[in-house]
Amino acid sequence: MPGFPRLRERYDVVVLGGGHAGLQAGLKAALLEHTAAIVDRGPKYSRSYYSPRMDNIPGFPDGISGHALLDHQITAVRAHDAIGYFTPARAISAERSDDGFRVTFEWLKQTQTTHGRALVLALGVVDRILSVGGEIDAIFPWANQGIVDFCIICDGHLFPGKTVGVLGHDAFAVRTALDLVHFHPASIELLTHGISPLEESPPEERAALGAALAEHGIAVRSEPIVGFDEIREKRFGVKFADGSHASYDKGFSALGWYDTHTAIPRSLGARFDREGSVVTDEDCRVLADATGEPIPGLYCVGDLRNGWNQIPEAWATAERAIIHAWAQYL
Ligand SMILES: Cc1cc2nc3c(=O)[nH]c(=O)nc-3n(C[C@H](O)[C@H](O)[C@H](O)COP(=O)(O)OP(=O)(O)OC[C@H]3O[C@@H](n4cnc5c(N)ncnc54)[C@H](O)[C@@H]3O)c2cc1C
Repeated sequence: MPGFPRLRERYDVVVLGGGHAGLQAGLKAALLEHTAAIVDRGPKYSRSYYSPRMDNIPGFPDGISGHALLDHQITAVRAHDAIGYFTPARAISAERSDDGFRVTFEWLKQTQTTHGRALVLALGVVDRILSVGGEIDAIFPWANQGIVDFCIICDGHLFPGKTVGVLGHDAFAVRTALDLVHFHPASIELLTHGISPLEESPPEERAALGAALAEHGIAVRSEPIVGFDEIREKRFGVKFADGSHASYDKGFSALGWYDTHTAIPRSLGARFDREGSVVTDEDCRVLADATGEPIPGLYCVGDLRNGWNQIPEAWATAERAIIHAWAQYL
């Protein structure tokens, strides 16, 4: 077991968040012979941690689980003395200094500060989980077995010919259900869990999306959900409050984000898109909300950034950011 890393006063790069994107950013900085600090709450807070099998990761033809892939990335990071990997640690704030960014975080029950000439935001996002009877854990066993999926671009290839129950009621959920049509499932039903579909949408949006649901034969079931079953059969069985039951090959959670980790990027003046993602240029430089111009030395990578939320993109954006910082600032 490796000992605790020594915290330096200054690093070339500080990376906030050590999921797939943040670990890759730290590794790339070290490969380019620069020092990096990675500040991370812990792998179990990465979106992929509970994914049992991911099929789109090069080099793993039989798939690999999210936590096994994170383990590989952590091992690679720990092999470099130039990287301080601080975990479990929680980033609290970041502010500009004369020559970079001062970062404050909690580690080993103490408040610590360090400094980076460049700062990479890799805090990811947190999925909203369906609450049944006030608890969110009812669905976890189905999610952990990959019977209920969360990522359309990661798992859409599993849906052809399948019956699918999509969880959600709002415009995001309806658009997700419509997007799933492209993967040719046998049928799709929208499960709105006691809420009127498109309740918060303006009338024009409600009319347009309602018509699209009808056009694609997507039925809506509005009864509240009281539990799930059929896990032994590897199916998504749904029990409703009125005593009825539905059985699907797959479930899909289209509930959007519980947390988009906006506090630190907002405090640094970042621009956000409609979904709460940080807006960057193609080198992952964060754009200032006030001017639309890149904020010098500030990068955002992975799911926190506006883009496709999947691991190859997390890696690619980390590479882009560090190569740009290396060429420009380091
Ligand atoms: C169920 C599921 C299955 C998926 N399957 C696939 C798949 O098959 N293929 C694929 O390519 N993608 C898949 N994804 C998407 C993939 O998990 C994400 O795209 C990827 O994790 C994004 O990497 P990231 O580093 O941006 O964020 P994350 O991996 O989520 O990492 C964010 C990190 O930030 C840390 N953090 C957050 N706040 C703080 C703080 N204040 N201080 C310090 N650290 C903090 C967390 O501890 C976490 O480690 C899946 C997602 C889910 C939910």
